[in-house]
Amino acid sequence: MPLLSCQLDSTRRRGTFDVLSCTPRDDGLFDLLLADSVLYPEGGGQPGDRGTVAGVAVRDTQPAPQGVRVIAEGPVDPGPHEVVVDWERRFDHMQQHSAQHLLSALAQDHLGLATVGFHLGDDATTIDLDGPLSAAQRDRLAAMANDAIRQARPVQAHVVSVEEYEGMALRSRGLPEGHEGPVRLVSIEGVDVNTCGGTHVSHLGELQLVHIARVERYKGGSRLHFLAGGRALRALDAARDRDRALSERL
Ligand SMILES: [Zn+2]
Repeated sequence: MPLLSCQLDSTRRRGTFDVLSCTPRDDGLFDLLLADSVLYPEGGGQPGDRGTVAGVAVRDTQPAPQGVRVIAEGPVDPGPHEVVVDWERRFDHMQQHSAQHLLSALAQDHLGLATVGFHLGDDATTIDLDGPLSAAQRDRLAAMANDAIRQARPVQAHVVSVEEYEGMALRSRGLPEGHEGPVRLVSIEGVDVNTCGGTHVSHLGELQLVHIARVERYKGGSRLHFLAGGRALRALDAARDRDRALSERL
């Protein structure tokens, strides 16, 4: 699939794109087919975007063989329309996704732990590592991540040919079966280069901070729950409010 506008410029919040077709669904919503869009389709652990097409609310965006399938709350006539991203939600996803690349790279290079799973949810984001993580390792990982954030290292997406990709020594899981066309790489300067189709911040300073909230044993390895950026700041506020409520009761 050719790269989409949301992948070519992840900071782009709106644009005019052609709606190719509009099909009613059984659940009362409508499937809009677009060849290109600023709306990111679910993939690589990152949820699909919400926003609007021609002012009609978008519930979800999914990949389609010809581009993206946008699930809208109402019908939209085929033709060119303004597409707008729910930027607050998308930027939150960019913060969590870039933080995942950072934590996974540091866990691999400094703790010898490979990432075997990643889930970006509405509340929690998790990384599954292939071995146990002690409290000391957890704190070291968080300290290294926040150190890289302080350095505001640049995050960049590059596109290379399959031949160039195969000549590079990367830790990535490899290309999906039947991959054709250019390969998109996302790099964090001095920390990581990995294949990824997702949307990312421009530099690590935009992550503000990373907090590892919880580590649990999971399938012989560990599952790490983390918060980045706005989510981490809101969790601090919530912790303060809980502390205050508790001390008032004592
Ligand atoms: Zn990624």
